[in-house]
Amino acid sequence: MTVLGIESTAHTCSVGIVDERAEVLALASDMYRPPKGGIHPREAANHHVDRLPELLDRALNQAGLRPGEIDGISFAQGPGLGPCLRAGATVARALSLAWDRPLFPVNHCVSHIEIARALSGLEDPILLYASGGNTQVIAYARGRYRVLGETIDIGIGNFLDKLWIALGGTFPGGPQIEAEAKRGSTLHPLPYSVHGMDVAFSGLLTATLALAGKGAERPDLAFSVETTAYSMLTEITERALAHRQMTHVVLGGGVACNERLRGMVRTMVEERGGTMFAPPRSLCVDNGAMIAWTGELARRSARPTPVADSAVDPRQRTDKVRAPWREAGLPPRPVPSAP
Ligand code: AMP
Ligand code: MG
Repeated sequence: MTVLGIESTAHTCSVGIVDERAEVLALASDMYRPPKGGIHPREAANHHVDRLPELLDRALNQAGLRPGEIDGISFAQGPGLGPCLRAGATVARALSLAWDRPLFPVNHCVSHIEIARALSGLEDPILLYASGGNTQVIAYARGRYRVLGETIDIGIGNFLDKLWIALGGTFPGGPQIEAEAKRGSTLHPLPYSVHGMDVAFSGLLTATLALAGKGAERPDLAFSVETTAYSMLTEITERALAHRQMTHVVLGGGVACNERLRGMVRTMVEERGGTMFAPPRSLCVDNGAMIAWTGELARRSARPTPVADSAVDPRQRTDKVRAPWREAGLPPRPVPSAP
């Protein structure tokens, strides 16, 4: 059994193909890079429309499969930018109709946790999802994934990107701040905004830019920002573990590629006797393989969605959709290798 998944929620458009054991048979991705400033939804959508046909060909070639050998089609239904989501959904619907294959729209955030569950073999972990637009702590309870804590203003990645661009850098800021922080040593005090299970970053942005205006060195600013922001994320993840009496944590999202964040969360989780797992970079960032795998879980546990009912939902909340495969107790399947 093979499912083909299409991801197009924001910058990344990607086609992945997986089998019923979560083996990644193909993954072909491309990223829209704004010439300057933030993402323009229509420009990004045009990019995805241009690129998806070739990515589809590449994925089929990589997997060595013909269209007739694909058993299901899935796509990211939300959350995301409307025009970008519609680009991927339109291609998925066209394939479903042309190849006469069932269609499975899936939630983007849930897909991050499902691919991490499959790769790690951890049955019931908490997900710390740290990406450009999303910052959430998510866990499963009674039929759905629930958001236990989240940002109450901007996503951690958007915060890092905005900060870096305001300091004269280019998109994406996160990896460049990571490199700069390695040369920093002075820890400037910055606002630490944890509100119960939630976090906020806009005060941190304002305070960091004020420090820069007073002549603080960029490596020290980067070091201080990473220390503060990643401590906040580690704290709400630990609180979620404690409240829910859970032990294991998986990471997802572009910011979860950060070595400092991985190290801080790993230390916290291991001190509590648990395991932390972060997927390899290609499956931690937005990718079609996680969409395909969640489509495969849906294929095994739910009816396909008629094309007429497959509208995208830019604001789809993690807890709005059911996870019938969890109710059915489908186990995660560890994969031997990832691309
Ligand atoms: P995503 O939204 O999941 O596609 O991830 C994109 C975001 O991840 C952007 O905001 C990047 O700045 C951020 N990012 C990527 N790599 C890193 C890294 N090594 N450290 C921190 N942030 C990163
Ligand atoms: Mg994502």
